[in-house]
Amino acid sequence: MKPVYSIVIPVFNEIEVLDTLYSRMTTMLEKLNEPWEIILIDDGSSDGSSETMRNLSERDPRIRVIFFSRNFGHQIAVTAGMDHALGDAIVVIDADLQDPPEVIPELIEKWREGYEVVFAVRQEREGETWFKKTTASLFYRLIYKITDVKIPLDTGDFRLYDRKVVDVMKKMREKHRFLRGMSSWVGYRQIGVPYNRAKRFAGSTKYPFKKMIKLAWNAITGFSYVPLQLAMVLGFIVALLSIVMIPIVIIVRLSSGNELLGQATTLISTLFLGGVQLICLGILGEYVGRIYDEVKDRPLYVAADITKSVYDPDSGNPRNFDQSSKGEKEVENGEN
Ligand code: UDP
Ligand code: MG
Repeated sequence: MKPVYSIVIPVFNEIEVLDTLYSRMTTMLEKLNEPWEIILIDDGSSDGSSETMRNLSERDPRIRVIFFSRNFGHQIAVTAGMDHALGDAIVVIDADLQDPPEVIPELIEKWREGYEVVFAVRQEREGETWFKKTTASLFYRLIYKITDVKIPLDTGDFRLYDRKVVDVMKKMREKHRFLRGMSSWVGYRQIGVPYNRAKRFAGSTKYPFKKMIKLAWNAITGFSYVPLQLAMVLGFIVALLSIVMIPIVIIVRLSSGNELLGQATTLISTLFLGGVQLICLGILGEYVGRIYDEVKDRPLYVAADITKSVYDPDSGNPRNFDQSSKGEKEVENGEN
C-alpha cells in the first residue's frame, strides 16, 4: 500500500534531537494505523547528523534521507522533501520538536474533513527570546499588509498539504522561495489549527537574524511590488517638494532681495536626492538580481545521495526491501 502520510523534516545540524524526534514521531504515526513515510532532508549538516540519519533509515526503511551536497537553506530543503513525498497528505514540520508531532493528528482530522491546507497557528511561543518573538510578530503583520496573497498571521511552515496542493507547488520552481506565500497562492480550502509552540528540544536556532532577514525579503519581493512602488512614491514626494520650493525661493528673493541660504542647502538637497536615487536603484537592482537568478535557471538543490525507501518512488507501493542495495539508481536533483 502506498503511504498515506509523508512527514517532511528539514535537518541542519540537529544531532541532539534526532533520536527523540524519531521516537516521538513514530509513536504518533503508529497510532494512525495507516502507511506512512518520513522524509528527512540533510541540509549539509556537519555535526554527525548525517550518519545518525543514515543509520535511522537503515533501521527503518520507511525513513528516507535526502543528503544535500551543501547547505541550501530551510525552504529549499522542504521543497526537496515535497518533491520526493509519495503520500496523500504531506506534513512539513521542524526537526527541533518546537512543533509537537502530537499536533499532527489534529491537522489530519481537518484534512479528513476536506481541507486541502491545514496550517498550525502559534498561540504561545515558549522559550524564545523577546527579540525573536517581536521580530517574528512584526514580520507576519508586515507581510500580511503588503503582499498580494493573504498569508495567515502567526503561521510558520508547520502545516499539512493535500497531494493536490503539493502537485501544484512542485510546478512552482521559483528560486527565492517563501513556501507559506506559495501555498496561500495555490488556494483551495485552507484552515488553521491553534497550537502551542514549544521550546527547542536541544541545540540552538539555525535561523540567525541574517537568515530571517533573507526570508522576509524573499517574502516581500516574491509576493509584492511594494518596494518598487515605494520608489515611485518617493520620487513624487521629492518632486512635489521641489515644485513647492520654487515659488517660495522666488518670492523671498523678490520681496527681500536676499538669496535663500547658501551652499549648505544646495549640498544637502543634492546629497538627499543622491541618496533617494541610490536607494531606488538598489531596490530595482534587487528585482533585477532575482530575474537574473530565474533566467540562469539552476537546479534548486543538489542531492548528493538519497537512501532507498521501502516504497518504490515510481509506483509508491512497497517493494521487497533489500538492505544491501543502498541508494536509488540515480541521484535526482532539484530540476524539474
Ligand atoms: N534548517 C535547515 N536549514 C537551515 C536552517 C534550518 O534545514 O539552513 C532546519 C532546522 O534543522 C530545523 C528547521 O529548519 O529543523 C527550523 O530551524 P530552527 O528551529 O533553527 O528555526 P527557528 O525555530 O529558530 O526559527
Ligand atoms: Mg526551531
